[in-house]
Amino acid sequence: MSRSGFYDKVDDALGDIRDDGLWKNERLITSPQGGTVDVDGAGEVLNFCANNYLGLADHDDIINGASEAMNSSGYGMASVRFICGTTDQHRALESEIADYIRTDDSILFAACFDANGGLFEPLLSDGDAIVSDSLNHASIIDGVRLCKANRYRFATRDIDDLRRQVEAAKQDQAETILIATDGVFSMDGYIADLPAICRVADEFDAVVMVDDCHATGLVGPEGRGTPSLHGVSERVDIVTSTLGKALGGAMGGFVAAKQNVVDLLRQRSRPYLFSNSLSPGLVGGARVAIRMAIEGDARRERLNDNAFRFRRLMTDAGFRLTGHGHPIIPVLLGEAEIATEMAARLLDKGVYVTAFSFPVVPRGAARIRTQMNAAHDADDIDRAVAAFIEVGHDLDVIGR
Ligand SMILES: *Cc1c(COP(=O)(O)O)cnc(C)c1O
Repeated sequence: MSRSGFYDKVDDALGDIRDDGLWKNERLITSPQGGTVDVDGAGEVLNFCANNYLGLADHDDIINGASEAMNSSGYGMASVRFICGTTDQHRALESEIADYIRTDDSILFAACFDANGGLFEPLLSDGDAIVSDSLNHASIIDGVRLCKANRYRFATRDIDDLRRQVEAAKQDQAETILIATDGVFSMDGYIADLPAICRVADEFDAVVMVDDCHATGLVGPEGRGTPSLHGVSERVDIVTSTLGKALGGAMGGFVAAKQNVVDLLRQRSRPYLFSNSLSPGLVGGARVAIRMAIEGDARRERLNDNAFRFRRLMTDAGFRLTGHGHPIIPVLLGEAEIATEMAARLLDKGVYVTAFSFPVVPRGAARIRTQMNAAHDADDIDRAVAAFIEVGHDLDVIGR
């Protein structure tokens, strides 16, 4: 194919995305991330679409922790970890993460996307099997693809299907079977049934891996995540998560696991070996964020009160919601056009939410995914619900 042919194909792909109504616009925010944000063209709006669950993204203590670390260790590491990119601060953060998640050790990555991308390939090979929930995050799917293990998929949160797939793996003579699940399914707002998953794992002597990105910092006692919530920290073998959501929302990911698993990843995981060390600023900020999450009961209480209030008022108003027990609260709307129009009209009324449609969610199951955060108070929730009701009536989504 010619060079001009290449650019024609790029234009065709862009045209298809526009024609299918799947074009994603990025709004410009001109303030720090917070309970409210200044959105270019819309002014100051209530923010219901960030992963800023604990409201820490603009917190002074974290900003100071980050600047102090940069003042003492500089801006960048300019190296991968094993050449000359590991400071005492990186190791301190890794051991604090391990304590927080209640594992032996942890290993930092540039993002959880990289943690998941580099997790499976060093640990499993062609005699092994990975049994993965069908709604698992894209980074798990990509990580599994990079690994030679055989792949099995179970219908999301369907424990009977999980057992069938694990049985199939066993029948196919898998040596190690690893079950991979999100701790929280972020499009639906459900928490994985880890006790049931662990029982199946026990039955078949399988390894359990949980991606806890939407749980670390906010779910379970002291925000230690879904394994702690369900009392199965001992049974869950591997936890991956992010520093980019509740824990200050900057950047960075990690794998927390038994010592030998972490040791092997440090030797073999490609996104770790061939990518830069986290900036000292990110490390310093994350260390403060973890301390604040441990001491964050008041924030978690406000977060959960907000979620409870929003869910109750929206249900009373006649909206159809999914999810349970988590501050992700999707509002089901059906058609993509309705969801998009509703989000646009809500923004006009000062409420920033995002519409999700195919291929992110199934066709005909378009939704507005709201995410509560601890920076809101009851008045903010009431204002948002009032806007939803007004727009919902205008678009005939709910009755009068
Ligand atoms: C956000 C998210 C990731 C990616 O985390 P980053 O640190 O932003 O790369 C991975 N898995 C799940 C389930 C997520 O929600």
